[in-house]
Amino acid sequence: MNLKDLGESRLKELLVSWKQPAFRAKQVKEWLYGRFAVSYDEMTNLPGALKEQLATEARAFSLTTRERLTDPDDGTVKWLSELEDGNTIETVLIRVPGRTTVCISTQVGCPVRCVFCASGRNGLVRNLTKGEIIDQVILACREVGDRVDNIVVMGMGEPLLNLESLRDALDGIAGEDTLGFGARHITISTSGIVPGIRQLAELERSWNLALSLHAVNDEMRGQIIPPANRYPLEEIFQACEYHRQLTGRMLTLEYALIDGKNDSRETLEELSEIAHRLRAKVNLIPCNPNSSRLTAPTLRRCYEAVDFLVARGVQATLRHSHGQGILAACGQLRQAKG
Ligand code: SF4
Repeated sequence: MNLKDLGESRLKELLVSWKQPAFRAKQVKEWLYGRFAVSYDEMTNLPGALKEQLATEARAFSLTTRERLTDPDDGTVKWLSELEDGNTIETVLIRVPGRTTVCISTQVGCPVRCVFCASGRNGLVRNLTKGEIIDQVILACREVGDRVDNIVVMGMGEPLLNLESLRDALDGIAGEDTLGFGARHITISTSGIVPGIRQLAELERSWNLALSLHAVNDEMRGQIIPPANRYPLEEIFQACEYHRQLTGRMLTLEYALIDGKNDSRETLEELSEIAHRLRAKVNLIPCNPNSSRLTAPTLRRCYEAVDFLVARGVQATLRHSHGQGILAACGQLRQAKG
C-alpha cells in the first residue's frame, strides 16, 4: 500500500488515533508533494516514532528504480521502475529548452496490442493505482528539482481503460496543497476507446485529449490495432466531437507515419478532411525505428507531409522523437529487460 492510495481522510484518522497534532497531516503532504520525498527518512520534522508507525501502514513511494537511462544527445531520462508486486513500468522525462514534460504509464502492459508498440506485446498485466500514477510525476519532479511543466499520459497502457485511477491521480495533483497542476498542462492520449472518451467528456475536466489515429479508414486501422479493443472510426469521431462540445478542448490527432502504409498523398488528403471535420490539429510522428519492422519515411518526406497538411489549412506539426538512444518509445526498455 502506498500513502497516496491510503487517502487523506484515512491518513488523518490514523494520525488522530495515534494522538498526533492536526498539523502533522499537512507536514506529511508538504513532504510528499512539495519536496517530492520518497521515504519517511527524508521527513526530518516528523518524530521518529511517527515515521515508524506510518511505515507499518503504507510506503511513502511506490517505485523502485531498476534502470535509469539518460540520452546524451537530448537529456531525455527514462526510468524502468519496479512496483511493490515486482511488475515494472516505464516513465520518461523529456526536456526541451524552457519546458519539461513527463510521459507516464497507466497500466502494466496494455490490452490494445498495437502492432508497432512494445508495451502491448504481452497484453495487459494490471491497472496502476492512483498512487503509482502520481509517483511517476513525483519521480520526474524530483529529477528536475521542481514541478515539471507538462504531463502527457502516453506511456504504457490505454489510459481510458483505467480512467478511474487516472482521474483520481490527476485530481489528486490538481490541488494547491499538492502539485497545483493545471488541467490544460495535461494531455491524455487514447487509441480510441469510445466509452472511455465519452466518460472522460462527462468528467468535464479541461485535460487535453489526443487520439492515436494512425490510419484514415477502418480497413487500414485494422492492420495496426487488433479487433478486441478497436472501435469503428465513425463512433470514435462522434465521441471526440462529444468531448469537444463538453470540454471545449481542441483534439490532437496523433499520426505515426509508416513508410508505404499510411503516407500517400491520397491518405494525407483524407487525414486533412478528418482534421477539418473534428477541428483537430495533427501531430505527425515518424514511426519509431526500434519498435517493430515498420519503418518511417525519410525525414524529408515527413516534412513534406506536414507541408501538405498545412497547405490544406490544417494545423500540423512533426514531433521529433526524443531519447531514441535509450529506447524511450513506449514499452521498449521494459521489453528489452524482460
Ligand atoms: S500504442 Fe498505446 S494503446 Fe497501443 S499497445 Fe501501445 S500503449 Fe497500448
